[in-house]
Amino acid sequence: MNIKTFGVIGAGQMGNGIAQVAALSGIEVIMNDIKAEFVERGFTSIKKNLRRSVDKGRMTDEEMNAVLERIRTSADIKDMASVDFVVEAATENETIKFQIFKDLDQICEPHVILATNTSSIPIGRIASHTGRPGKIIGMHFMNPVPVMKLIEIIRGLRTTDDTFKITWNLAVKLGKTPAEANDYPGFIINRILMPMINEAVYCLYHGVGSREDIDTVMTLGANHPMGPLALADLIGLDTCLAIMDTLFDGFKDTKYRPCPLLKRYVEAGWLGRKTGRGFYEYK
Ligand code: NAD
Repeated sequence: MNIKTFGVIGAGQMGNGIAQVAALSGIEVIMNDIKAEFVERGFTSIKKNLRRSVDKGRMTDEEMNAVLERIRTSADIKDMASVDFVVEAATENETIKFQIFKDLDQICEPHVILATNTSSIPIGRIASHTGRPGKIIGMHFMNPVPVMKLIEIIRGLRTTDDTFKITWNLAVKLGKTPAEANDYPGFIINRILMPMINEAVYCLYHGVGSREDIDTVMTLGANHPMGPLALADLIGLDTCLAIMDTLFDGFKDTKYRPCPLLKRYVEAGWLGRKTGRGFYEYK
């Protein structure tokens, strides 16, 4: 299947990264968010990223302009009527995602695959809100999307082999390395990564170490490229909390209980880099 037009729902840090990577690989993109100002913010972030690549000599001005011209912005989900494949990268919230999939199911042509970039919500649960469960799949990009090579591909119980193959091949076309995960809360990456981040927040909460010491121990002691608290700030503390809630609800196992400190930060609007304050402060 030749994917000529690619729809992205949500123009936040993941959505605009996905749109950038798709446009770089030569695909026409429609990037959508609920408000024109949100989608413009996403587009500005793509422009800044590409400008940095030009400044570093990795691409020419002409190449940058050609990539930008392949991205159309939209604040109306009905614009998805003309796309061949959709990746949903809206806020990690079941109610929001279920409504988006209901809408996409009505708006998109019946052959269109509807993928979700959810970090943790079971694909089968999302699929049950559509009339095309065979064409619903998880396509889980990593943050920052233009840099990270992995895409976790997750089939729901009813996802067809054809949908899986097309999505796998698309991941390769985007220059990424796909890996398959089964449809359980958190899949592989967040089943392992998020409890570690949550435990780091517990270490801070219990006064086992300062934020700097916790991150230094894990970077130098476990050879991680960045500490778990800095990583939580990069991911977004709201997203981390949503993933812990999904793990906790999905397995009913107390080992997944989110740290109360994580909840307090999210309630305070300290969501990490995207709001300028998380475990660290950002200018
Ligand atoms: P974000 O907060 O940066 O962006 C979310 C965007 O979705 C916002 O711009 C918001 O306005 C938009 N949105 C909300 N409701 C919408 C709707 N109905 N229609 C269209 N847009 C809507 O969040 P993010 O970090 O980009 O995360 C997006 C998704 O990607 C989540 O499902 C998250 O779990 C997943 N994800 C995040 C990371 C990460 O490291 N942050 C990594 C992999 C996957």
